[in-house]
Amino acid sequence: MDNCIFCKIAVGEIPSKVAYEDEVIMAFHDIEPQAPVHVVVIPKAHIASGMNEVTKDNSAVVAHIFESIPQIAASLGLGEGYRVVCNCGENAGQTVQHLHFHILGGKTLGAMA
Ligand code: 5GP
Ligand code: ZN
Repeated sequence: MDNCIFCKIAVGEIPSKVAYEDEVIMAFHDIEPQAPVHVVVIPKAHIASGMNEVTKDNSAVVAHIFESIPQIAASLGLGEGYRVVCNCGENAGQTVQHLHFHILGGKTLGAMA
């Protein structure tokens, strides 16, 4: 997908600090961390724009992301807990239109919102 930051990160065209990678997904440290540990997990293939575009045909990658998150979190030292966030749409503050999930941790996060 042209002009998609996360597609460019997925192929290494934009450098990132990679936390985890396999054939279909990638986790990299957020450029503007909102917690001591803040990683973004993406499917390498573009799924626009995000949560609203998850379908029966592409949801296997979402399952794969969620199956992988515990081991990614463990590798990041988040044994004391973490939060997974998906911003969907303008009101949620979504800025990148490529499906992604945030893993946040490394401190007591407090109440949501
Ligand atoms: P959203 O706000 O769409 O849920 O999350 C997008 C996230 O991507 C933001 O937290 C933002 O800081 C991060 N981000 C945007 N551009 C880049 C980049 O070029 N590199 C990295 N590592 N993170 C980015
Ligand atoms: Zn993309």
